Amino acid sequence: MKSKLKKRRVSKGNLFINTIVILVILFFCFFFLFIPKVRLNSSYEKIVNINSSYNDSGVTINDIFGNKKIIKGVFDIDTARIMNYNVSYTYHHNIFTYHLYIPIMVRDIEKPKITLKGNTIEYYCPSKEYIESGYSAYDNVDLDITSKVKIKKEKDKIIYEVEDSSSNKSEVIRKIISKDTIKPTITLKGDNNIFLPLNNEYVEYGFNVLDNCDSDLTSRVKIFNNIDSTKVGNYYVKYNVKDSNNNKSYVLRNVKVREPLKNNTIYLTFDDGPRDGTTDKILDILKEKNVRATFFVTSNGDDSLIKRIVDEGHSIGIHTASHRYDIIYASVDNYFNDLEIVKKRIYDVSGVESNLIRFPGGSSNTVSKKYNEGIMSTLTKEVINKGYQYYDWNIDSGDSSSNSSTLQIYNNVINNLSHDKYNVVLMHDTKKFTKDTLAAIIDYAKEKGYSFDVLTDELMPLTQRVNN
Ligand code: ZN
Repeated sequence: MKSKLKKRRVSKGNLFINTIVILVILFFCFFFLFIPKVRLNSSYEKIVNINSSYNDSGVTINDIFGNKKIIKGVFDIDTARIMNYNVSYTYHHNIFTYHLYIPIMVRDIEKPKITLKGNTIEYYCPSKEYIESGYSAYDNVDLDITSKVKIKKEKDKIIYEVEDSSSNKSEVIRKIISKDTIKPTITLKGDNNIFLPLNNEYVEYGFNVLDNCDSDLTSRVKIFNNIDSTKVGNYYVKYNVKDSNNNKSYVLRNVKVREPLKNNTIYLTFDDGPRDGTTDKILDILKEKNVRATFFVTSNGDDSLIKRIVDEGHSIGIHTASHRYDIIYASVDNYFNDLEIVKKRIYDVSGVESNLIRFPGGSSNTVSKKYNEGIMSTLTKEVINKGYQYYDWNIDSGDSSSNSSTLQIYNNVINNLSHDKYNVVLMHDTKKFTKDTLAAIIDYAKEKGYSFDVLTDELMPLTQRVNN
């Protein structure tokens, strides 16, 4: 340095050159100061998963004045192919053009997925080997690779491993426990609710029993019942079973002992009322003839008629509030919602909690099929599950027909009466002809030696064949 300074001192011409050099250096320093700073918005090298979409996050250019500019790259990347690509960024500044390339590598970096059938913790019978519940493996590139799954069985677990063609590995573990936690299942042959005529012996219908570990538990099922068939009442048969691993279960069959309907007896039943102008007249006739009957009521008529029915010793049952087939037979909920309305009405007016039912159209009706296929099969079981009893009829007075007459109704009833059976007669207390012919029917029946009685929940139900 010293020698250079010396030289400068000695040569004036050099001073000029030096000044020029310094100016040039200053110019470049100044220039570099203004070179924009480039910042990548992602890592330099980028791996993109196959078949995914590539999003260019660009580069940010900052100049000395704090101005920011994001430059987007130019690229042609087919993410469906495992290859290396470039994204190029170009930026023009003053007289300069800047280029930047970022390598993009499309690879399969996604692990295959193993899906277990069954549970991740499974119990198996102590007396048996664990039976594989199944699995499947799927890869984003290789697709179904179930056949490539390797299974390692250890004492208390099973390890499922799989590797795809790009060496991505997956592993899933299923815990297996040698313990029987599943109860045996008993299914009853015959209905869960049965009606047994008074003084008839209960004959076992039988059952089936199934268990996950024990092959046959039939002989281990213990049956107990509390039935006293000499007394009307609700009883049960209890089926108990315990498997060899101490899992217990039981099932109940309800047995309702009921008095049979009596032969040589007429059970007059009146549906659809009450109705002012007919029900009151019918009640007058029954009172005068000292005959008791059964009324299946709706929401119609005056409450005082409901009260009269009960006060005068007749039996009262539920027919439905609306009597609209399209509503009540559209769904099980609809039916019961509608039923509850009448049940409440009867209770509010008379204090009677009736559980007698007559289905509009009878249990054998087919019109309900139009609104819900199979609904009668469900309802006839459901009503009994809920503690109701339903009564159809075995003599139809025909009074619901629009062209019936007093004489026709009279004949329909008296011609079908029998001393050797019970006679449950379907009538409607809403009909004028019924009211007009009732006295004559009663007189005839009395003269022929028939008795009259009411339907109650202590009697065996009278049910027709369900057709829907
Ligand atoms: Zn009806």
